[in-house]
Amino acid sequence: MVNVALIAHDKKKLDLALFAKEWKDVFKNCKLYATKTTGKILKEKVGLEIQTFESGPLGGDLQIGALAVSGKIDFVIFLRDPLTAQPHEPDVSAVLRICDVHNIPLATNLATAEAIVLEIQKKLNN
Ligand code: PGA
Repeated sequence: MVNVALIAHDKKKLDLALFAKEWKDVFKNCKLYATKTTGKILKEKVGLEIQTFESGPLGGDLQIGALAVSGKIDFVIFLRDPLTAQPHEPDVSAVLRICDVHNIPLATNLATAEAIVLEIQKKLNN
C-alpha cells in the first residue's frame, strides 16, 4: 500500500482538487491522509476516500508530520501558497523539515506533484 499525505493552502485547494481528479485512478489505489478542509474538498469534489486530521492552522499539519515521523507516510504533496502569510507557518516548516529528516519525497508545487504521482503509479504497477 502506498501512503500519501495531501495538504493544500486555501488558494491552492482548487489546484489540488483538479490535480487529484486528473490522477484519481492513481490516488484511489493509495491510502490517503489530509488536513480537514483539504480532505473534505477531495472527498466531496473528487470522491476519494481519505482519512482526515485537524485543519492545518489547528495542528493538522503537525498530525501529518507525526505520521511521517512514524514511517507511515511514503509521499507528501503539500501545495503551499508562497504568496500569502500563514498563521501556522512554523507548522508548515515543521512538515517540510521532517520530510527532509526522513527522506520522504515531498512536492510543494504541481510540477513536482506530477513527478510524485508518476512515481506512485510506477510503484502501484510493480
Ligand atoms: P486545511 O489545512 O486543509 O484544513 O485547510 C491546510 C493548511 O492550511 O495547512
